[in-house]
Amino acid sequence: MSQSDCFDTYPPMAGTRSSHESVNEVRNQILSKIECVCGCVIPDSSDYAPYLARFIADQDWFDFFEVMENEEDSMDTWDYFGDIFQCPDCHNLILFTADYSRRCDFQPLDKEKCANITISYLGDKWKGILRGHYYGSNSRLEYKHDKGELYWQTNQENGYLEDISLEDLRKEYYKKFEELRSLGILRSAFLRIDGHDEHSWGEA
Ligand SMILES: [Zn+2]
Repeated sequence: MSQSDCFDTYPPMAGTRSSHESVNEVRNQILSKIECVCGCVIPDSSDYAPYLARFIADQDWFDFFEVMENEEDSMDTWDYFGDIFQCPDCHNLILFTADYSRRCDFQPLDKEKCANITISYLGDKWKGILRGHYYGSNSRLEYKHDKGELYWQTNQENGYLEDISLEDLRKEYYKKFEELRSLGILRSAFLRIDGHDEHSWGEA
């Protein structure tokens, strides 16, 4: 298996992770490339990642809510969280402690039963996202010039189309938009042509 096979449906650029100031460089460096023992490289490039969950120690539980209520700068609350990544291929768990000083890997005893344990508690009803991009000939991403891509992520279905024409992008975007919205599993969508939103819907 090549290193990227396990993440075929995730685009390399689909989103930018929301950054928060208290995240230190060590953490960012580690997160930029997490490799599972099976060889799968787990990306840290999109929001709403289905393979990532966060945990908080019971010893910190009440302190965390106190900080949440009192601190104006909610960035401090990030200090309480450790990260758990689940490999989509072998279902191993890769856990990073809240201070990011330790990485611990765990293998489930029952792989099938333990797949997708990092997704939303809403399961299939979780509302996902749809993103369409078209890059004109002035785009700073030269290798994407005059190409479109479409990405959608829900817990019922994921998909990624790349190198498509503007015409196909529009057609596929609106088709997918109606489909996901009618199923009630869409939280936001946009179709961005050359940096301008031709269509946007739902939360920002
Ligand atoms: Zn793995």
